[in-house]
Amino acid sequence: MDAKVTILVKDPLSAASLSVAQTEDVWVRDERVLLDGPVSERVAILDVDPDTGRLRDGVPFVAAKGRRKAGWPVDHDDLLHPDRLAVSAFGTVHKALARFESPDALGRKVDWAFDGKQLLVVPRAGRDANAYYERASRSLQFFWFDDVNDPSRRVYTSASQDIVAHEATHAILDGIAPDLYDATTPECLAIHEAVADVATVLLAIDVRDLRDTLIKATGGAMDTADVFSQVALQFATGLGRTGPLRELDNRLGMADVDRTEPHALSVVLSGALFQVLMAMYGELWAQALATHRGSKLQNAHKALVVGADRIKRLLVRGLDYLPPGDSGYADLGRAMLAADEASHPDTPFIRACLVRELVDRGVVPDDAALEVTTDVDGPWGDDLDPDELVASDFVAYELVAAHRAWFGIPDRRTFTVLPRLDVTKTYVYERASKQVREILLKVRWREVEPAGLGTAYPRDRIYRAGCTVAIDPDTCRVRAVLRNNLPAEQAGHAQARTALLRRLDHDGLLAPPAGHGATRAEGVTTRIDDGALVVSGTAALLHVHAPHAGAGGGQTWPI
Ligand SMILES: [Zn+2]
Repeated sequence: MDAKVTILVKDPLSAASLSVAQTEDVWVRDERVLLDGPVSERVAILDVDPDTGRLRDGVPFVAAKGRRKAGWPVDHDDLLHPDRLAVSAFGTVHKALARFESPDALGRKVDWAFDGKQLLVVPRAGRDANAYYERASRSLQFFWFDDVNDPSRRVYTSASQDIVAHEATHAILDGIAPDLYDATTPECLAIHEAVADVATVLLAIDVRDLRDTLIKATGGAMDTADVFSQVALQFATGLGRTGPLRELDNRLGMADVDRTEPHALSVVLSGALFQVLMAMYGELWAQALATHRGSKLQNAHKALVVGADRIKRLLVRGLDYLPPGDSGYADLGRAMLAADEASHPDTPFIRACLVRELVDRGVVPDDAALEVTTDVDGPWGDDLDPDELVASDFVAYELVAAHRAWFGIPDRRTFTVLPRLDVTKTYVYERASKQVREILLKVRWREVEPAGLGTAYPRDRIYRAGCTVAIDPDTCRVRAVLRNNLPAEQAGHAQARTALLRRLDHDGLLAPPAGHGATRAEGVTTRIDDGALVVSGTAALLHVHAPHAGAGGGQTWPI
């Protein structure tokens, strides 16, 4: 079943600055269940009336009839009417899902990281300058606050496509790479932030009116296209800041940011991906102009759409290849490069751009650090039945155990083989496309290092490492193999983990584990396993309990 949904565009302030239409219609497609709310099989709006605290009736679903499309029509002109916010948040979450799940990206539906089928979306969660995804409550929560420039005006975070798309992406990414949520390596949490911000850019480029207006206004010169690079402008200005919450059009390197604060750190990666997008756009535009077909602006339009698609594929397939456990920027960089090399070996332009960005920004010391292994024979020779590997945990375990050194598993260490992913993706080329099936085999194990947290805590702590192998089921050859926790990068990550944990402990956001039970301080859980400290739920901290922007300065970790 398909339904038409009217959603708010980009960010109320960004959209207003360009005089574009404030809303757009998008389609929610192929859903088996569409109900009042809006509610679908995987997303449910829960709108609580802030005055009474009671759940409001859902916006009625209207079935298609004659020329009328199915959907949740809302008559109110007020763009901030509760019904409009509810429908818009629902549509925006689905828009983000569709972007990630398309056949050329993930090629499958995302499974949420929590038990339960539905992501609960609360468009008016209460008064606060915040919004977040929380795995434990299976929800996205959007708050509102009074605009400091005009206290009669409320800033609803659910009215910003940037913010709704950002939080929805946290939930989607948690479904793809759930280990990032429990990681203690700051770069893991920063990957969450960066991917969520890049998704807001891709969703904004999806808006035809925004694209058209911008290209007309700039003549296609994207160096003045800050409407795409700025995230959550209204949120930031409503708190009295100048400029957006985060600016992706930046040249920041690892040396320029606090490497232990995930939001600050995120702009290095999101900035790199934004520059790759701009380079890709420029290249595609130049190629189109060289053909002397179509007008300059038509070609710019097409180059922007195609460029955004290329970045989406690069990023989403890279995330699918990301090794389990604590993967950092360089790991994601290699995963993106491997996924792109496996699918588009003959068109290296985008990979060259990504390598240049990651080296220039000090993510890795040189090109060699980003070299990846693709298209090689596996250690199993002909001794592999791909269908059995997918279906049988025993077969998968035996295979990994027989070749554990090749996977990178330390001697005598126990390991976990994750459920295999049997995925079919569409590879899009200039003039053709093809379906490619691959099996993703992921293995995870534990590593121990000094906890560095003082006497209240155990002496050692545990973090996780892993390996992803992409296997071609027809030839049983390895399309790509990726291992994290590389010796050259381990020490830097260990240092950053210690700094992050010390900061959380200092701020009262981490509590020493008591006995054999688990201790929960704020969103973060600590427990003892084999005498060592295990910390989980760190991503919940990013938004739920962080000191908010404007609350007396200091470190700010909102959204
Ligand atoms: Zn976030």
